[in-house]
Amino acid sequence: MPDQKLPGEHPDESALLDEIARLNKIIRALMDRAERSTSVQVSDFGLFQVTVMLEERVRKRTIALETALRDNERITRALRESEIKFHGLANQSLVGILIIEDGKFIYTNPKFNKIFGYTAKEIRHVAPLDTIFESDRPLVAEHMRKHLSGDKKRLGTVFRGLRKNGTVINIEFHASAMNMGGKRVLISLVIDVTERTRAEQEVNALQEMLREQSTHDALTGLYNRHHLEETLDRELIAAQRHGHPISIIMGDLDHFKTINDSYGHLAGDAVLRTFGTLMKQHARSSDIYCRYGGEEFLLVLPQMAKHNAIERAEQLRKTIAATPVDYGTTQIAVTVSFGVATFPHDGGSGDALIAAADQALYAAKATGRNRVNASPATPDTAIPVQIRGADWGYHKN
Ligand code: GH3
Ligand code: MG
Ligand code: MG
Repeated sequence: MPDQKLPGEHPDESALLDEIARLNKIIRALMDRAERSTSVQVSDFGLFQVTVMLEERVRKRTIALETALRDNERITRALRESEIKFHGLANQSLVGILIIEDGKFIYTNPKFNKIFGYTAKEIRHVAPLDTIFESDRPLVAEHMRKHLSGDKKRLGTVFRGLRKNGTVINIEFHASAMNMGGKRVLISLVIDVTERTRAEQEVNALQEMLREQSTHDALTGLYNRHHLEETLDRELIAAQRHGHPISIIMGDLDHFKTINDSYGHLAGDAVLRTFGTLMKQHARSSDIYCRYGGEEFLLVLPQMAKHNAIERAEQLRKTIAATPVDYGTTQIAVTVSFGVATFPHDGGSGDALIAAADQALYAAKATGRNRVNASPATPDTAIPVQIRGADWGYHKN
């Protein structure tokens, strides 16, 4: 807004020039009078003396005024120069600049106007709070109030701004209060961080997706083997500390190769997905269900004794056997064999426990499939408790 005057205007030069002119006029009148009286009355020494005295006074006053005038010109020039510099910088700034006094904009630079979509003329009639998204107004108003009252030295915040066309943008806002022309004003810088915020959100979403991908199986949405191994170790440490059991159920689809061969690979995928969903549905929030291999699944049941785990596996087995998978117009009958093992009796480490469940599963397959088989280990045949190399001694509960 180039036609706006900055506060702290320069003194009025024309008033000083008028004063000098007025005093010169007085001198001239007095000189005339003195000359006239000299010529008429030959000598009026008293009048002459007064005139000379006055002339001296006026001369001194004139010098003082001329000095003041020069100072004034110098100050005016300096002010003009700093005003040119300020406008030059403010007009080219890539940051929005604004000055608020008495709750109104008294200055906004072109970048600020552009950020909010107003012309220089329009912005003069816009209240600062109208450039803020409605639900953020109380917060920003409170920040500004605190700031102007001296509660805060510097103010920096991010809020949602409102453009003239109603678009919501993300604004980073920095402000500091100053005294200008005897008034307290808020000088602020604003940056449109909408794109940056969007990019940050995209990066966060991408990171979240990568985290999800690194711990989950894409086909079934269950945890993957890598995640299971890490979690199982943690669960075993907790179980060891608190003296709780942990059971694991390993499930392997029966004759899955035949399903693939008969109905196609995509049908096989559909069966795997359905089985994954069923596993999730049968899990407590503390259970960890994972796709362990191609058509092998593993369910970790913290604080669950073996007989309860056998019951859970049996429920799962019955449900699957009773629920053929819909694939287009076809229904595919599926059965699953299960092996159950429990910490600490059947294994003291994740690897040992999985090996025991796998062995039990193998026996289930060997004895006809579509059945649950538990690891045969008993307290008397307990295995040393070992988690990733740590020997924790023998457990015979
Ligand atoms: P068993 O009852 O002894 O377990 O027999 P099986 O046919 O289920 O076992 P086998 O190990 O012979 O075959 C497993 C098959 O699972 C072979 C493989 O092509 C298939 N498979 C592995 N991963 C996937 C997958 O992601 N999708 C599909 N559709 N098939 C898969
Ligand atoms: Mg298999
Ligand atoms: Mg199989």
